[in-house]
Amino acid sequence: SKSNQTAQILLSEFRQASATPLHRLRQVSDDMTAEMHAGLLSEGGSQQLKMLPTYVEHLPTGDEEGLFYAVDLGGTNFRVLRVQLGGKEKRIMNQEYQEVAIPPELMLGTSKELFDFIAKTLADFVATEGEGFDAHSGHIRELGFAFSFPVLQTSVKSGIVIHWTKGFKIDDAVGKDIVAAFEEAIGRKGDHIRVAALVNDTVGTLARGRFWNEDTMLGVILGTGTNACYVEQADAVSKWRDPPPKSGEMIINLEWGNFRSPHLPRTFADEEVDVESVNPGDQWFEKMVGGMYLGEIVRRVLAKIAQEAGLFGGSSSPKLFEPFSLSTPYVSKMHSDESAELTEVAKILEDVFEIQSTTFQERKIVHDVCDILAERGARLAAAGIVGILKKIGRDGSTTNGSQGLKNSNGKTVVAMDGGLYEHYAQFRSYMQAAIEEMLSETAAKSVVLELSKDGSGIGTALLAASHSQYG
Ligand code: ADP
Ligand code: MG
Repeated sequence: SKSNQTAQILLSEFRQASATPLHRLRQVSDDMTAEMHAGLLSEGGSQQLKMLPTYVEHLPTGDEEGLFYAVDLGGTNFRVLRVQLGGKEKRIMNQEYQEVAIPPELMLGTSKELFDFIAKTLADFVATEGEGFDAHSGHIRELGFAFSFPVLQTSVKSGIVIHWTKGFKIDDAVGKDIVAAFEEAIGRKGDHIRVAALVNDTVGTLARGRFWNEDTMLGVILGTGTNACYVEQADAVSKWRDPPPKSGEMIINLEWGNFRSPHLPRTFADEEVDVESVNPGDQWFEKMVGGMYLGEIVRRVLAKIAQEAGLFGGSSSPKLFEPFSLSTPYVSKMHSDESAELTEVAKILEDVFEIQSTTFQERKIVHDVCDILAERGARLAAAGIVGILKKIGRDGSTTNGSQGLKNSNGKTVVAMDGGLYEHYAQFRSYMQAAIEEMLSETAAKSVVLELSKDGSGIGTALLAASHSQYG
């Protein structure tokens, strides 16, 4: 039919606009490397990448012992957890966690409301500490705090909120020490637990990876948002004014969600998502890659094809035109539908958009849009990783060579965490394929993307241990 033809034309235009051929990925990764250099040179040296020094001096080695807690404030959920560590032989003897959804109104409220809620959840969780967990008598319980928003750290356990992302906007917290706000809330509850380390979730993920494998050099989050950190040589951080750390290495949090490049394949849908967000103009990379936005981009593309080409028989489903009605887990469910008739796609279109009957061609378009956008996001994330590998001379390119980072027995492990990476199989395989496409064969063999499950939470507890006052 004519409308199906128009739909096919719109789809192929969109496919073109979203394409990430190898040469484009190389431009993106080159831009990432260049911005990293600029951001290390001076404060504000890069308009995009903050390249934040983290003050984490000791990555876990596996020798840590004792009971440690973590609070992981991500974007959608927050988790409280505890681990009992038993040293080199026993490693993690026991772990327990609890996950709580953040009430939406707290994302736009006050700092006090948010932290009172977190402190209460933490206190309730500590109260359930039972067998298999042993708080050393005479020790105050220690906690790692994973806070996954841009923070200017002032020490390993203090830092100032720069701004919010991922749908959070708590204005009174900006410019203030986030640990102080948290500890005040803990104090109001009358509890005894202290923050031993404030870490970005990427750093927790790196730490969790390093605890098990000393070749771990990068931590990457693909969840609600996206970000990465890596191990850098201290003397490469020109903007650092304090004495260099003894290890000679520093962990740098890129805050790559705010990366942008003229080579990013931005479309009308990305433009719309950005303009209507609580942080327009910011976080372009995150808005093209992160789980918070992927479903919404798919929805906008489908809405446009419905409007301009009568997709779904032009049936005006109000839900199809409602922002954020399609969440990313549905995208991955539809994408992994391998049935001949795309019956899962049909079911989700009905459940989510209340579109009762669809033709196979329509369902195929939906499937294609999911595929196009997952592939784009995955390949851009891969280009980011290759940009970092290049910066540390681990991309196998002859011009770089190893910068002499201590640890280089062949492998470079990238610790990965986040719901998008963990649960979206096609996304993972597109990433892996892009890494292999971009690197030489030898380099590709040495780079391992490894799921660091619950890395941000457990890794943060591990960092509390490696920065314990009783250590
Ligand atoms: P956060 O980034 O908030 O710390 P997570 O790492 O748990 O949280 O990631 C949650 C995000 O992961 C969700 O916002 C969603 O976008 C994405 N996600 C969760 N489940 C799936 C799934 N099955 N398929 C694709 N994406 C998923
Ligand atoms: Mg998280």
